[in-house]
Amino acid sequence: MLIRKYQGKILLGLLVITIVVWIFVFQESTPNKFLEINFLDVGQGDAIFIESLNKQQMLIDGGPDASILEKLGRVMNFYDHYIDIVLLTHPEQDHINGLIEVLKRYNVGEIVFTGTIRDTAQYQEFINLIKNKNIPIKIAYQGEKIDFGDGINLNILYPFENLKNQKLSDNNNSSIVSKLVYKNFELLLTGDIEKSVENKLIKEKVNLTADVIKIAHHGSKTSTSEAFLKAVNAIMAVIEVGKDNKYGHPHQEVLDRLKNLIVLQTGIEGNIQLLTDGERIIKK
Ligand SMILES: [Zn+2]
Repeated sequence: MLIRKYQGKILLGLLVITIVVWIFVFQESTPNKFLEINFLDVGQGDAIFIESLNKQQMLIDGGPDASILEKLGRVMNFYDHYIDIVLLTHPEQDHINGLIEVLKRYNVGEIVFTGTIRDTAQYQEFINLIKNKNIPIKIAYQGEKIDFGDGINLNILYPFENLKNQKLSDNNNSSIVSKLVYKNFELLLTGDIEKSVENKLIKEKVNLTADVIKIAHHGSKTSTSEAFLKAVNAIMAVIEVGKDNKYGHPHQEVLDRLKNLIVLQTGIEGNIQLLTDGERIIKK
């Protein structure tokens, strides 16, 4: 009798659940129309979230603290707790700290980094989390690439060689430099490299051309030389930088060097989303 009494409600409940499940299935299986690139506003630090057409996700750096979690919540579905690839450009606190929080709360398919060693508690925690969660590692150096299907690739341009287990005095200049390519669209990602590495890349005749450049080291004047900008020849520059930061980033002389480009700053705009179909760039 009881079941008969509630039969209508139970059936309605099951129908609602079925519809909700199918909406999730539909959302997950419908390919994206655009390659999505999100420069997340994590204050003074870098965090770039990329989703390919087939919905593979990559997070490049995690910013300086747990604020990355709230930002990821805005670009990922609430039920999605898996990120395919997490890439650490270099183990400085404004890039690695947020990734520790991400590794604690998300399942990650692969970690990509240079393999350099650092003597900090944060670095040790990062490595311990990777080991404890059994996450596969890929060491990034020139010639390696990550294939996202549909002709989308992340090509590693720097470091020139495998730096695994090396302890370096200068971590900024060990940053992974990479180029995200989709048809005619190119995005150059520079970590925190300084002019010395920019000069090495030019000297080695690395193909640096890109439509969009992520400005190195939060707009510090120690990076982004005229010669480097000329080699990249971008139309748009994105600076990941904290509002009113103590370093005075971005430095005015870098902004002066960028006067002919469209310049977007997370410290001014908040999260910056770029969409591309491989031809056009759409800013949301
Ligand atoms: Zn940095």
